[in-house]
Amino acid sequence: VTKYLRKKVLVLGLAKSGVTAATILHKLGAFVTVNDKNPVSENPDAGELVEQGIKVICGDHPIELLDEGFELIVKNPGIPYSIPLVKGAIAKGIPVITEVELAYQISEAPFIGITGTNGKTTTTTIIFDMLNAGNKNPLIAGNIGTVASGVAEKARKDDVIVIELSSFQLMGIEKFRPHIAVLTNLYDAHLDYHGTKAEYAKAKGAIGKAQTEDDYFVYNADQPGVIELARQSKAILVPFSTEKIMENGAYIDDGYMCFRGEKVIAVSDVVLPGKHNQENILSAIAVSKLSGVPNEAIHKVLTTFTGVRHRLQFVAEIENRTFYNDSKATNILSAAAALTSFKEPTILLAGGLDRGNEFDELKPALKNVKALITFGQTAPKLERAAREAGITTIKRVDNVEAAVPAAFELSEEGDCILLSPACASWDQYKTFEVRGDMFMEAVHRLK
Ligand code: ADP
Repeated sequence: VTKYLRKKVLVLGLAKSGVTAATILHKLGAFVTVNDKNPVSENPDAGELVEQGIKVICGDHPIELLDEGFELIVKNPGIPYSIPLVKGAIAKGIPVITEVELAYQISEAPFIGITGTNGKTTTTTIIFDMLNAGNKNPLIAGNIGTVASGVAEKARKDDVIVIELSSFQLMGIEKFRPHIAVLTNLYDAHLDYHGTKAEYAKAKGAIGKAQTEDDYFVYNADQPGVIELARQSKAILVPFSTEKIMENGAYIDDGYMCFRGEKVIAVSDVVLPGKHNQENILSAIAVSKLSGVPNEAIHKVLTTFTGVRHRLQFVAEIENRTFYNDSKATNILSAAAALTSFKEPTILLAGGLDRGNEFDELKPALKNVKALITFGQTAPKLERAAREAGITTIKRVDNVEAAVPAAFELSEEGDCILLSPACASWDQYKTFEVRGDMFMEAVHRLK
């Protein structure tokens, strides 16, 4: 790659992706400056960059940077387009890209890109596992710990990069052209950042804008908004649906998950619960079949995959009770999706940070819930909603660790014990991951 040689590039944001992008651009011969709003004391990697010969400016986004003649800006997706420095750069005609675009520009390997409001991490992980089982040399990039440009730099021609993409990242792409794009779904989210739903949809739809007739666009055919966006891509359209038969794509028929007329796996053989996960799985089957993964490999993954950590993840079966960790369910919508995934009588563990919700929307999803264990700030509100939904067994405890033995005590054989808090964790736990880990440790202590 020679296009960055002697180019003046400004990298905005010193997070992991900024550090990686700056290092790569420097190696490619660019004159790199990195700028971050936080002071040097909060940027432990700054020193290392300076040692390499990269200029680092911290503590502010000074507008004077616009006078330095930068030819390109690589912006962290978290920095708004509305700050004066970015606004000024756009007005001057300086291209502003995200690190994903850089990854695309330097990669020898093709991309499979996954976006949508919900299910990105799950779908990305299943696709990665299937390609891996089918010996297709996948590399994973995105949310799950790996920076796209760092992965792209190491990728070879016969690898394939499976990348999870947020709408924030997609706003800063130009030529990024995934060989297979996946759009899982589109719900109202992040409207605070994108302004309107149309803007948000446009960002998601951008995943297909550079595609050609040689590429594929896998999309949720049960959602009209998604269909509309899919039609804007020049790629071959590959629909998936849990509701109707899609001859050109993936669907459920006669108890089987099928792809283009072929039965791939019996629905009853799939371990991962939930209708929403059937959507994620159907899109992953479509991608895998398009990539030439054999059915045995797909089968192997779906009969063993128990979920991404903290996302409706199967934890253990103890004395005929099953335990699931859905700590990532930090809002009512996600907890409701989890609850409707189980037919078994369920003991729900919920509670956390109070954001002013009354939890009335959760009531219809409490149908199978036989008991509720609460903790955290929202405990009283959840208890009221549960009582109104007809639940009589309700117990309040101090935290998730205490909720596990309390739930076990109330349980009978065949029950499901589910942590799906419907709230953020910050009143008691630093992250939803810590909360989920506490839950899992407590479950394993029961054994
Ligand atoms: P993302 O990476 O898009 O945040 P995840 O795969 O991490 O999505 O899943 C987060 C939560 O979203 C899950 O715990 C589940 O409750 C919900 N979810 C997952 N897939 C879907 C889907 N296809 N449709 C609706 N909700 C989903």
